[in-house]
Amino acid sequence: MLPGVWRLRLPLQLPGVPHCNAWALKAGDGLVLVDTGMHERGSMADLERALFQAGFRVEDVRLVLITHAHIDHCGQAPAIAARAGCEVWIHPAFRLHTGRDDVDDPLEHAVEAALQSGVPKAPLRRWAERRKGLGSGQAGTLASDRDLLPGVEIETDVGTWQVVETPGHAPSHVCLHQPERRLLISGDHLLGRVSLYFDVGYTPDPVGEFLHSLDVVAGLDARLALAGHARPFTDIEGHVEANRDLVARRLDAVRAALQACPCTPYEVARAVYGGAFTEEMASWLLTKTRAWLTHLDALGEASADDESPERWTLD
Ligand SMILES: [Zn+2]
Repeated sequence: MLPGVWRLRLPLQLPGVPHCNAWALKAGDGLVLVDTGMHERGSMADLERALFQAGFRVEDVRLVLITHAHIDHCGQAPAIAARAGCEVWIHPAFRLHTGRDDVDDPLEHAVEAALQSGVPKAPLRRWAERRKGLGSGQAGTLASDRDLLPGVEIETDVGTWQVVETPGHAPSHVCLHQPERRLLISGDHLLGRVSLYFDVGYTPDPVGEFLHSLDVVAGLDARLALAGHARPFTDIEGHVEANRDLVARRLDAVRAALQACPCTPYEVARAVYGGAFTEEMASWLLTKTRAWLTHLDALGEASADDESPERWTLD
């Protein structure tokens, strides 16, 4: 594709997400590796195979950069760092995920949040049972050797990359920008196919942060996006616009759902997503719905009562 840049397509065992991309950037006698894939059975062999096809070994990695602290992007980082003897750099907001004193058991925390959102108990119990059997996807404890913040520059053979903060999808999300070649490593902030997701409960208004991050990326004038999933794409402006459109449409659907009732986030999610709200997708779609509601709250358009489950009304 580009000399000195390799797309490592790593298989995932996540529903609806068959692969993620790690990006290998030639840097002197080794590589800078952006994102790592998940840690699961066979995942290190998958990475070795992908690196081998590019002519490298895990030991050639000189630095690991993480676009954001989701397991399909950072899960394997500690294992790679241990083998290659290199550092891992992440945006400091990743500690919002890993350093929560109030969360002993993440699964129990998720079940409580679901009950608060009005999810019926029987399907919730089935979901929690399925989750218990799964691994975390994370190899060891994620740690950062240096804060990946604006001002940090990453030298590679294709040029120097700048860090651009792009919170919204995750509070720790950054894009990496190479201005001379107009390249953008876009993580999950911008994907070739519009696919929205927001971490909820860590920052005041993830959707508002995401919209601001779209403006920031549109202003970079990059021409090729190397995304965290699927193929690279051009027409970054068009993709930014498509994301803004979908956000606007979903917010309108949430407003319409709230016309009918005081209703729980679960009821809003069912109204907004209709047939797509299957048991397998429920957790994902409910999290997004909580993000939409939080945004309407931030705009002063809607609010929740203090009951459990909570009920939302238009203000
Ligand atoms: Zn992600």
